Amino acid sequence: MSAKGRIAIVGAGLSGAVIGRALAADGYSVEIFDSRSHIGGNCHTERDADTGVMVHVYGPHIFHTDDDEVWDYVNRFATFMPYKNRVKTTSQGQVFSLPVNLHTINQFFGKTLRPDEARAFLETQADTAITDPQTFEEQALRFVGRDLYEAFFKGYTQKQWGCSPTALPASILKRLPVRFNYDDNYFFHKHQGMPENGYTDLVRGILDQPGITLHLETVFHRSQKDAFDHVFYSGPLDGYFDYENGQLGYRTLDFERFTYDGDYQGCAVMNYGDVSVPYTRITEHKHFSPWETHQGSVCYREFSRECGPEDIPYYPIRLVEEKQQLAAYVRRAEEEEAITFVGRLGTYRYLDMDVTIREALDTARLFRDRRGADAAMPVFLHSPV
Ligand SMILES: Cc1cc2nc3c(=O)[nH]c(=O)nc-3n(C[C@H](O)[C@H](O)[C@H](O)COP(=O)(O)OP(=O)(O)OC[C@H]3O[C@@H](n4cnc5c(N)ncnc54)[C@H](O)[C@@H]3O)c2cc1C
Repeated sequence: MSAKGRIAIVGAGLSGAVIGRALAADGYSVEIFDSRSHIGGNCHTERDADTGVMVHVYGPHIFHTDDDEVWDYVNRFATFMPYKNRVKTTSQGQVFSLPVNLHTINQFFGKTLRPDEARAFLETQADTAITDPQTFEEQALRFVGRDLYEAFFKGYTQKQWGCSPTALPASILKRLPVRFNYDDNYFFHKHQGMPENGYTDLVRGILDQPGITLHLETVFHRSQKDAFDHVFYSGPLDGYFDYENGQLGYRTLDFERFTYDGDYQGCAVMNYGDVSVPYTRITEHKHFSPWETHQGSVCYREFSRECGPEDIPYYPIRLVEEKQQLAAYVRRAEEEEAITFVGRLGTYRYLDMDVTIREALDTARLFRDRRGADAAMPVFLHSPV
C-alpha cells in the first residue's frame, strides 16, 4: 500500500480517469473498477473491424468547451482535430439545417428574409396569447409559432422523452431556439474538436500513470468500500444503494447498426423530426473523422425509450417524481462517510464531457486540500438536487 492511502474509483470513464490520475500522481494507490470490458465509459470509441471506421459506441460525442484549463488538459493526452457539429433534420419530406437558423426559416417558409425581417416575421408566427408558458409546447409556441414547432420540436421531443411536449416543463426550452443568421455550428464554444484516435485513446492517455491499477469487467459493490480509505463513485447513485428507493428515471437508447458501401447520408447526424419515423436520428460515424478516408460506412439508427433495470441509463429524466426519489437517495448518501459521488450517474445530471472533466479536476483538488487539512471530503461536490 502506498504511504498516502488506498483509493477506489468506480468507473473508468472520464470522471474516474481524471480523478484517478490526479490522485495517483499525488502518491495514492488508486484502484479503478469498471463493470465493462473497456475504459472510456459512455464516451468509448472503437474501430469497426470491417470498415476501419471509428465508431462512437454509446452515441455521438463532440468535444466543445470554453474552459481553457480543460482544453489544455485533454490536449495533453490526445491530438484534437478541428470538428464542427453541423446537424441536419429530415422533416415533412424535406431536409433542413439545424439549429433552426435563417436558412431553415427561409427554406421552410419559401422566403428570402434578412435577419431583421426574419425576426419580425417570427413575431407574427409566435402565439402571443400565451403570456406565462408552463409547458415545453407552450414555450415553443410562444417563441416560434405552431408551424416551426411542429416541424422541428414536437415530434423529436416526443420521441426523445417518450411523452407529449405538453407534459414537459417550459424550462427545457429556456431561450429562443432560433438563430437569425446562417450559422449552423451546433455549439458556440471557443474550443471544439474531435480526438484524432477516438475518446478511448484519450482516456487511455489519462490513465497512463504509475500508481493506477485497473480492474475491468469487475463490478464494485458497496460491501467492498471499507477496504479503501476513500471511494469515488461514478456509477448510478440509486445502484449504489441497490435501488432501495426504486430506480431513478432515465431514458435509454437502442442503436440499430447498419453498414453501407460509400456515403449513406453525407453528414454525421441526420435528425428525423416526424413522429411517424420511429427513430430520432441516424449517425454516420465516418463523418466524425473527416480527416480519414473509408469506402465502407457504419451507421446507427437511434431509438429512445424508457430505461429498464437491465438497460444502460443515458439521459436522466428529472421530472417531479424523479426529484422526490432523488432527494431520498441524496439524504441516504449523506449518511455515508469516505465516499464521494461524482460524474453523470453518481450525481444524476446530464454533464457534457468538459463539465465532467472540470468537476473531476476540482474533486481531486479538493480531496488533496481536505486531506492536507485533515478534514472530511463531502459526499457531493455538486448536489444532484
Ligand atoms: C447519447 C449521449 C451523447 C453525448 N454526447 C456528448 C457530446 O457530444 N459532447 C459532450 O461533451 N458530452 C456528451 N455526452 C456526455 C458524456 O457522455 C458524459 O459527459 C460522460 O460520459 C460522463 O463521464 P462519466 O465518467 O461521469 O460517466 P460514464 O462515462 O458513464 O462512466 C461511468 C462508468 O462507471 C461504470 N460503472 C457503473 N457502476 C459500476 C459499478 N458498480 N462497478 C463498476 N463499474 C461501474 C460504467 O460501466 C461506466 O463505464 C453525451 C452523453 C450521451 C448519453
